Amino acid sequence: MTLSRNELRGWLLEQDPQRLAQLWAAADAVRRDSVGDAIYLRGLVELSNICARSCVYCGVRRENREIERYRMTLDEIVGCAAAAASLGIGTVVLQGGHDPHEDPNAITAIIHAIRAVSPVAITLSLGEHPRARLAAWRAAGADRYLLRFETSNPTLYARLHPRLAHEEHDRMQGLAWLRELDYEVGSGVMVGIPGQSVDDLVRDLELFRTLDLDMIGVGPFIPHGDTPLAKHPEAFPKAEQDQVVADVLTTLKVIALTRLLCPWANLPSTTALVTLGGSAAREASLNAGANIIMPNFTPTHYREQYEVYPGKSVTEPAQVVASLHEMAARLGRTIGHGPGHAREHSRASGQILR
Ligand code: SAM
Repeated sequence: MTLSRNELRGWLLEQDPQRLAQLWAAADAVRRDSVGDAIYLRGLVELSNICARSCVYCGVRRENREIERYRMTLDEIVGCAAAAASLGIGTVVLQGGHDPHEDPNAITAIIHAIRAVSPVAITLSLGEHPRARLAAWRAAGADRYLLRFETSNPTLYARLHPRLAHEEHDRMQGLAWLRELDYEVGSGVMVGIPGQSVDDLVRDLELFRTLDLDMIGVGPFIPHGDTPLAKHPEAFPKAEQDQVVADVLTTLKVIALTRLLCPWANLPSTTALVTLGGSAAREASLNAGANIIMPNFTPTHYREQYEVYPGKSVTEPAQVVASLHEMAARLGRTIGHGPGHAREHSRASGQILR
């Protein structure tokens, strides 16, 4: 579906519940026709909170001395992947900080070790890395990579995401490399970060479509007390016009519009959205275009140190997965089997996207 800039803007500002019910219904219908009724689960493993970056929004930024830094061992990571597979989950997401001292071969070894015990798809979400390293991980068997561009506004991005010394590339370059290397490519944005205007969000939505992404993660910005954004709000002014609100409703609108613009993409019901709005927000997002959920398999004692934003759930994964099966049944949906690759959807529907 094509939506003009004005239409996107209009929907993002819409407040009428009846009109919004039409948006949720349209996104839900497109979701059903394009990716079907299955909700795919991805087992999240937060393998390290060591990070060289100073992103002003993120609780694991290098300057935060309030958390204990950790790197999970290979055996611990493989154990989490096996636990996810034993609950029928077909994808493991290995996420972590931008860890400059982690030996790139250690990630290769983790990919090989997971592959040896389980047929799961492997998604990496490890920040920005040189092309050769991304290529080595792809060759080792990684299937997908998640790298949110966070905002399409370059001035705002530079304010939020200070460059590292000697850094030669940005996230857009990283996304282009991932595509060249034949990864399934995921990206996304935060909703409502200070300085983000509704027009910025319209451009984010247009960029999702231009980049032809396989997965698009959209979550509300949640302030973390130990970050500059929370400590020095005066340094991060709101947008002069139409500052985006970091709330459940706006995030739902972005998910629904993303589904209309990118019918075959995998769209998660993000943890940040559920942290803000609980299970009602989860169900609302699944009824407005989302088809992916990422239960957390990180051991609890590490999870507490991976505090990107406050308030994340620490419920045991087996309990979470059981309740997701119940929820899917209640919504007339199913829990998907296998990896749930985005390109399977487009092939199954006869659409050749690239
Ligand atoms: N280091 C990798 C990276 O930067 O892509 C992966 C980990 S990073 C913590 C994962 C995502 O968390 C980011 O892309 C960002 O969108 C999100 N995030 C970070 N801080 C957040 C906050 N305060 N509120 C909501 N989302 C946040």
